[in-house]
Amino acid sequence: MRGDILREIGSTPQWDVVVVGGGATGLGTALEAATRGHGTLLLEAEDFAKGTSSRSTKLVHGGVRYLQQGNVKLVLEALRERGRMLRNAPHLAHKRAFVIPAYAYWELPFYGVGLTLYDVLAGKERLGRSRVLSKSAVEAALPTVHQKGLKGGILYYDGQFDDARFAITLLRTLLDEGGTALNYARVIGLLKSNGTVSGVTAEDRETGQRFDCAAKVVINATGIFSDDLRQMDSPAAANILTVSQGSHLVLPREFLPGDSALMIPRTSDGRVLFAIPWHGRIVVGTTDDPVPEPAYEPRAMPDERAFLLEHVERYLGRRPSPNEILSMWSGQRPLVRRAEASSTAAISRDHTILISPSKLITITGGKWTTYRKMAEDAIDRIGGSASRTAGLRLHGWTEETGPDGACGAWQQVYGSDAPLLRALPQKLLHPSLPFAQGEVTWAARNEMARSVEDVLARRTRALFLDARASLEAAPLVARLLAEELGRDATWERAQIDGFRSIANGYLWPQ
Ligand SMILES: Cc1cc2nc3c(=O)[nH]c(=O)nc-3n(C[C@H](O)[C@H](O)[C@H](O)COP(=O)(O)OP(=O)(O)OC[C@H]3O[C@@H](n4cnc5c(N)ncnc54)[C@H](O)[C@@H]3O)c2cc1C
Repeated sequence: MRGDILREIGSTPQWDVVVVGGGATGLGTALEAATRGHGTLLLEAEDFAKGTSSRSTKLVHGGVRYLQQGNVKLVLEALRERGRMLRNAPHLAHKRAFVIPAYAYWELPFYGVGLTLYDVLAGKERLGRSRVLSKSAVEAALPTVHQKGLKGGILYYDGQFDDARFAITLLRTLLDEGGTALNYARVIGLLKSNGTVSGVTAEDRETGQRFDCAAKVVINATGIFSDDLRQMDSPAAANILTVSQGSHLVLPREFLPGDSALMIPRTSDGRVLFAIPWHGRIVVGTTDDPVPEPAYEPRAMPDERAFLLEHVERYLGRRPSPNEILSMWSGQRPLVRRAEASSTAAISRDHTILISPSKLITITGGKWTTYRKMAEDAIDRIGGSASRTAGLRLHGWTEETGPDGACGAWQQVYGSDAPLLRALPQKLLHPSLPFAQGEVTWAARNEMARSVEDVLARRTRALFLDARASLEAAPLVARLLAEELGRDATWERAQIDGFRSIANGYLWPQ
């Protein structure tokens, strides 16, 4: 597959659009371009969704907290996009009940009114009616919630999804629509003619070979690294991004049994905190701390870890032991600087499109939920036929969404491809993980997986669900992948070592 793509790239004299970056924004933008009739190539330096797009809190949301900031336009836009994600990819995005426990009586009308407004704004996109719950109804929905002083709560509905699987599904849809994409292809320079960007120089990370791709339009969708490409275009370009880090930890299901998620709108230090069921575990997050430099493998800082532990203890009854923390991950937000914003949490998640004097288009900011709207806005700048992604069913679309839209068995994420996958070996990769051995072969054949990390972090979500189990599964994954890709024992060993050094960052320090 990779050889064919490289040959196609080599024999294409000029692309209409080259998109740099294969996260939510780049994949969405490339899909938007391809569906509007542009010959499109996407180049990703690492793996698809290796950056921020596999490290989110997995919410498809209007952003209840943006209501608190009074940003109604952003909430309305996100609510519309939420509906589209749920309709266009029901195998990957579904509704989830969220409960805010109230420990003071004033919180009931306060959050109740706010969430009623959220329902009103959602209009026909509303996923269910928000309502005030009695103390006993909160205890039934959140059996482990801290009960002392509990007065009742508020129930509301929002969306939840699998971010990396969504990215891979966008990739598959892009290929279905005639687009071309390559991972492990880093853009290292921009081509120019008469001062206008006319393509890119890229490096194949597997062979070290360099190649040029001529293009009518180049779009920079490199997330937290956007300033690097802007400075490749013009060394004098000022930084437009600040980076803020958010960390999560993953706990066994018994920390929050049931199907509802817990939402704390304002912790003692003013943050928003979620505890959400996800693929049979509980994800707790997130923090919001400025960091000086963007990083590919950000690690949770000691005060982030302390904050998360302390709040699990405060709201879910007890402090998890290090062994109970199955995994932890951090992601970094690309936030566009606003001179007036005093802290990163106050900076709007709205997106920004910049066109440089050389016509390089940079699209950044926003959030996963608004990826499609960001893409539509970016491609509107270059024209083509009318956008059709608002109603475009994504690869694997199926009507089956499981009971009440809840994520059922893992293989539901493959949607209509699941029966094909089930024809491959179904023996588990590891007894604590729901992933079959055949998924390794599938990922290499159909989803451009090139490494053990690609399989364990983003094709399956093993690393995010149970870092220790994923480390134990790594040798088997390396062997299956080596067989499929025709690699030798030296490659296998290097893959296991490489995965080990990354996965160690997902383990709670003992
Ligand atoms: C902690 C956290 C929680 C979040 N939770 C949510 C949530 O619950 N819901 C929600 O809607 N949003 C959420 N977000 C926001 C959302 O995740 C991001 O807005 C989105 O993923 C950004 O996607 P992106 O494509 O712009 O960036 P990225 O996913 O980082 O993609 C950029 C890509 O560009 C590639 N790249 C960089 N340089 C080059 C180069 N020179 N050549 C080729 N490729 C290059 C990188 O390798 C990377 O893959 C969260 C963000 C964070 C940090």
